[in-house]
Amino acid sequence: MNEQGCTVVTGGSRGIGRAVAVQLAKEGRNIAFCYRSGVEAAEETEKLIREAGVEVYHAPCDVSDFDAVQQFISDAEKAIGPVRALVNSAGIVRDNPMVLMPPEDWRAVIGTNLDGTFNFCRAVVFGFMKRKEGAIVNMSSVAGLDGNATQTNYSASKAGIQGMSVSLAKELAGYGVRVNVVAPGFIETDMTEALSEKVRAQALKSIPMRRYGGADEVADLVSFLLSDKAGYITGEIIRVDGGVVL
Ligand code: NAP
Repeated sequence: MNEQGCTVVTGGSRGIGRAVAVQLAKEGRNIAFCYRSGVEAAEETEKLIREAGVEVYHAPCDVSDFDAVQQFISDAEKAIGPVRALVNSAGIVRDNPMVLMPPEDWRAVIGTNLDGTFNFCRAVVFGFMKRKEGAIVNMSSVAGLDGNATQTNYSASKAGIQGMSVSLAKELAGYGVRVNVVAPGFIETDMTEALSEKVRAQALKSIPMRRYGGADEVADLVSFLLSDKAGYITGEIIRVDGGVVL
């Protein structure tokens, strides 16, 4: 499929976002991706996307900044055509028990994860409604479904993404636009590499499949949800977590 227009992936420079961007590129989609500041990683992702033979646009864009997101979408559309699909993968953690959590860490996580997802959805939905087509996948986490001690800010941001997404799915279904949520468990990326050996070992015990997931395994689900094969699926929250239990 070498479709006209592009698919936007936020946080596409590293981790799950990169795996998603590269997999969708291999499927023939032109890719526009943003990141916060890591230019080197972005250039590596750009190279991998170009190897797939599609067009790519990327730029730093703080997802929590409404105006910057509007500008990113406008620039991406000028560069490689109208946005046809959106994957919100940019996200951060700032873990701490509530009793110690600085309010700025609460706001940073809600601002990046929840406001960021709103900002990108808000920037593309009018075009999707006008063209009566489009698909969105928003990245949550099992922490948004089950909760996780030390992650009140992160869990709240992800539960917010879920509520927003199922409501948006209902708003847009009549326009032929689908919105779904992917909730990964413990996936091998920089985000989880930063955890202590003790926390990683504890996490492993909670995974019935006794291994961490790969970013490509999340990308497979995102790819399916954006594809016509998922044409009758909207408003779903799907785990990809190796059967994780509390
Ligand atoms: P990661 O490896 O840490 O990568 C994060 C990406 O988001 C980077 O491209 C980063 O850009 C970008 N980003 C962060 N803050 C941003 C901002 N304000 N504006 C724009 N871009 C920003 O993370 P990951 O593990 O791939 O996680 C991706 C998503 O999956 C997140 O939403 C995360 O919550 C979710 N998730 C991950 C796991 C897991 O186990 N890894 C599990 C469940 C859910 P820079 O490098 O420039 O900062």
